[in-house]
Amino acid sequence: MNDSGFLTSAVAELEARLASPCPCHDRDRHLPPWHRSKGPAPALRTRHGLTNGALPRWVDHDYRERRDDGTWRYVCEPYWLHEDALADLASLAELGWHVTVSATRARHFPGHTVAVEIEQPEEGAST
Ligand SMILES: [Zn+2]
Repeated sequence: MNDSGFLTSAVAELEARLASPCPCHDRDRHLPPWHRSKGPAPALRTRHGLTNGALPRWVDHDYRERRDDGTWRYVCEPYWLHEDALADLASLAELGWHVTVSATRARHFPGHTVAVEIEQPEEGAST
């Protein structure tokens, strides 16, 4: 493969990744949004005094996926995380949730969003 062929291939790969379906809005690969009455949502609503299932604004492009052990991974993919979001994530971690923020796993708009992953605590944890 010559240089031009390599570049064409690299660009095609990048474009395919950028165009890959996001679970939050793709019709064929849609995953459900976060639970409103369990998962991290109730603790976040309490922190912010929110009602009627509302969630903090950083919970953007949310979906959840079931892990092999039957528990849920809650994911959202915001464009930015401000100090309130960081305080929320720290408080969830204190409650026993496993929190990860990853640039490389973002699927909503790769390169522009980050994937915030909140995983269910082990059985018996205090949520
Ligand atoms: Zn999306």
